Amino acid sequence: MSSPAADANDLRSPHVALLPSSGAGHITPFLRLAASLLSQNCRVTLITSHPIVTQAESNLISSFLSSFPQVTEKQFHILPLDPASAASSKDPFFLQWESIRRSLHLLSSILSSLSPPLDAMVSDITLISSTITITKPMKIPNYVFFTSSAKMFSLFSYYSVVSESLADSTKISEIKIPGIGAIPRSSIPPLLLVPESLFATMFKSDSDNLRQFDGIIINTFDQLESKTLKALKAGEVAGGLPPLFNVGLIPNDFERAEAVSKWLDAQLAKSVVYVSFGSRTALSREQIRELGEGLVKSGYPFVWVMKDKAVDKEDGEKLEGVLGAEMMGEVKEKGIVVKEWVDQVEVLRHNSVGGFVSHCGWNSVVEAAWVGVPVLAWPLHGDQRINGEVVQGSGLGFMGGNWGWSGQVLVKGEEIGRRIKEMMEDEGLRLRAGEIRDEVRKVVGGTGDDGLKQLIQKWRA
Ligand code: UDP
Ligand code: UDP
Ligand code: UDP
Repeated sequence: MSSPAADANDLRSPHVALLPSSGAGHITPFLRLAASLLSQNCRVTLITSHPIVTQAESNLISSFLSSFPQVTEKQFHILPLDPASAASSKDPFFLQWESIRRSLHLLSSILSSLSPPLDAMVSDITLISSTITITKPMKIPNYVFFTSSAKMFSLFSYYSVVSESLADSTKISEIKIPGIGAIPRSSIPPLLLVPESLFATMFKSDSDNLRQFDGIIINTFDQLESKTLKALKAGEVAGGLPPLFNVGLIPNDFERAEAVSKWLDAQLAKSVVYVSFGSRTALSREQIRELGEGLVKSGYPFVWVMKDKAVDKEDGEKLEGVLGAEMMGEVKEKGIVVKEWVDQVEVLRHNSVGGFVSHCGWNSVVEAAWVGVPVLAWPLHGDQRINGEVVQGSGLGFMGGNWGWSGQVLVKGEEIGRRIKEMMEDEGLRLRAGEIRDEVRKVVGGTGDDGLKQLIQKWRA
């Protein structure tokens, strides 16, 4: 029999503050974590940073809050960047992360006003070197939410060990990670090879600072990365790291909706290709047109989410302006193309969808595994090639080819069409993707999902 003290501990609802940064790829997994924590009887305070960069992020947050009114939202008003810092990158999300980091000294008063006091805070990976300086003096346990793959985390956690020897980036042909293997130069996030870039300096200091945290959370599955998770948990990659909790996060129902499903209802089972490069990656006009040609040539119907600008609020161009009248006509005969936000999980889980052309943002990979849809990987930036290797290694899909980083290579329609056909016709691949889905679902949300339970147990203690 358990003791009365243990029973009281089991009933206590730990109070956790969640601090996402910005970009749907960061907001979405935090909202999924929030929902999982609520289902396990935790109190959740969600800290949202304002102004918000995209309309899509505002919409995600407001639908979440109306579906989960028990969550307390604390709005955090960030300071504008000074002109010199604002010139350090062209990427609106990098700049937003930097603004949040530089405003975080203002967070203490919000955190100390929370009642009951916090048992833990979960910080977005992009903010960690700043949040730790706030939570340390307040003695609030702080957990890192790493929003990419465990494989990317292995590079990240090992980086502080090797960064000195990487000073001459021209000489790097690969990075050998103990317990994991080699990451070839071609897969290393390009900005890491530019030592003075904001990305590389942050990466190094964040990697050093990991040891000050109480734990690391990663949304991944054994079915995608069992060897990597094992090596990380056994401490083979880098010494002195806090414990790692891998949690499988289920897509929330509130994210569902809408229009493309009607069109999908009219298609044959497993016949449709879904194409999306995530929430913040725009292709060049030339590449968009080659992709359009490839889709038409593949012979399969498709749902194509096209992004012409990284930030939705700045995207005023009509589809026809991007594609040209002739291609617009061809495309409309074979599939649908949208420039608006679609509910990706809703599309992916539709029975008509048989393949996913993806940039391999980590959330997209996890979602493809969750629904068991094969992936044709076309990584374009940052961590995406490492995630693409995870896709290929797990058997969920394969890499398109030697397609370079964004803008380096113009991938021709002919080749894209051929690779799409290959994906759609590969029965073995479809079976393997289905197996991954079945295995994941046995564990996630079920008895084998220990990561989340261990985490909450720690917060209750
Ligand atoms: N997403 C979506 N609809 C869109 C574009 C993106 O639902 O039209 C979602 C997608 O399902 C994923 C997130 O936005 O959950 C994007 O994150 P990911 O890590 O895949 O890529 P990123 O946008 O960070 O490059
Ligand atoms: N970018 C993107 N998706 C990503 C990361 C970056 O589309 O996941 C874009 C970004 O908007 C910018 C370009 O890639 O236009 C280069 O960004 P990066 O930050 O790598 O270089 P910088 O702006 O620092 O020169
Ligand atoms: N990252 C980091 N500090 C930063 C920016 C990025 O540690 O300031 C890490 C983090 O693991 C992130 C990964 O680098 O998930 C890839 O960053 P990317 O630019 O591709 O952005 P994301 O895909 O996370 O939106």
